Amino acid sequence: MAKRDLYEILGVAKNATQDELRKAYRKMAMKFHPDRNPDSKDAEEKFKEAKEAYEILSDEQKREAYDRYGHAGVDPNAGMGGMGGGMGGAGFGDAFGDIFGEIFGGGGRRGGGPQVYRGADLRYALDISLEQAAAGFDTEIRVPSWENCETCSGSGAKPGTSAQTCRTCQGSGAVRMQQGIFSMQQTCPTCHGSGKEIPDPCVACHGEGKVKKTKTLQVKIPAGIDDGMRIRSSGNGEPGVNGGPAGDLYVEIRIKPHGIFQRDGEDLHCELTIPFTTAALGGTVEVPTLNGRGEITIPEGTQVGKTFRLRGKGIKGLRSSYPGDLYCHIQIETPVRLNDEQKTLLRQFEQALSDGGVKHSPKSESWTDKVKSFFS
Ligand SMILES: [Zn+2]
Ligand SMILES: [Zn+2]
Repeated sequence: MAKRDLYEILGVAKNATQDELRKAYRKMAMKFHPDRNPDSKDAEEKFKEAKEAYEILSDEQKREAYDRYGHAGVDPNAGMGGMGGGMGGAGFGDAFGDIFGEIFGGGGRRGGGPQVYRGADLRYALDISLEQAAAGFDTEIRVPSWENCETCSGSGAKPGTSAQTCRTCQGSGAVRMQQGIFSMQQTCPTCHGSGKEIPDPCVACHGEGKVKKTKTLQVKIPAGIDDGMRIRSSGNGEPGVNGGPAGDLYVEIRIKPHGIFQRDGEDLHCELTIPFTTAALGGTVEVPTLNGRGEITIPEGTQVGKTFRLRGKGIKGLRSSYPGDLYCHIQIETPVRLNDEQKTLLRQFEQALSDGGVKHSPKSESWTDKVKSFFS
């Protein structure tokens, strides 16, 4: 199907001013908008046609190409100008957004201009000790930062040269791709959305306009923080693209394993090894806590695996008013490298136990009873 003349579509003269084009297009858009003509294939076609015509004629560069070469000058499929910025658009929106928002009261997307993106978030793993996590502390971390290139003052162009409007997208930063009846907007592959091309890039920054450095950040680690928690440092991520906002920096806390304590939320657990004599006779033993030494009274006849709780000797969580507890799990140690005298004493002790006629071993006796009843 031969394409109609763009001026004819909009019903304007070849020398129409931008204002006249705009008015003509508004009139067509009002008349043929699909919302006002549901189910009318004809209106939809006219609407698309007008939109396409206006997209070309409202752009000085494209209008010039059209005037000179006709449709071949602006048709993306004709091989001139590659993916021809903003061309071939059959969808509803975009280049059209400005006017449309005006007519139908909002919803119009900001048309044209470079594509703006938020910078990526950065993650920083910070290894800290259990003591630091419990008490909180202030620290400094070194993170990447980006500064304007001094050589080119951030322009990305070699000194003495300058950036030019991208020829692929005519500076809009986006191109349209036709997919069936849908037209999709994509970031311009040539300029990556900046709308600019740098023919002669700055050597120092390779045309980026910025250089990567490091900066020192103060980080406040709150008391009670736990493994895997993240602290957000707003705006300290990667810089945005084309003036978009920077991303955030996330400091992820990793608590190093502790030689004595295992943490379980706000509680702490530790193993407490005591001599078998203390376990048998009872006594007082010293226990380590995160804030100094504590003491536990071991009662007579304490068995292995018994747990003692020290109230409030755990960790105060981020949102808690009281600290958790410290649980000491008893281990009993068997003495090694006994000399002859010690062995003799133990044998005498063993004999004394069996001569006494009293039950001394609650566990093994109950086990012996179980075995007996099992076989009987
Ligand atoms: Zn471009
Ligand atoms: Zn530079």
